[in-house]
Amino acid sequence: MADLKALCMKCRDANNKPTMQTMTNPKVEEKNGRYSAKGQCAVCGGNQFKFMSKADAEAMK
Ligand SMILES: [Zn+2]
Repeated sequence: MADLKALCMKCRDANNKPTMQTMTNPKVEEKNGRYSAKGQCAVCGGNQFKFMSKADAEAMK
């Protein structure tokens, strides 16, 4: 499985901006025809959320 990366609101850089971190335990969800993934940040364990294309969502199954 390819690494899924999402912005982590807790892992911030020197400019206090959220940074891209690897998502662990991603769970793909479909809602109203839109796909998203929920998981935890590999660095801090905080919750992450990301919208995905259908192709990306299918690839996660
Ligand atoms: Zn984090």
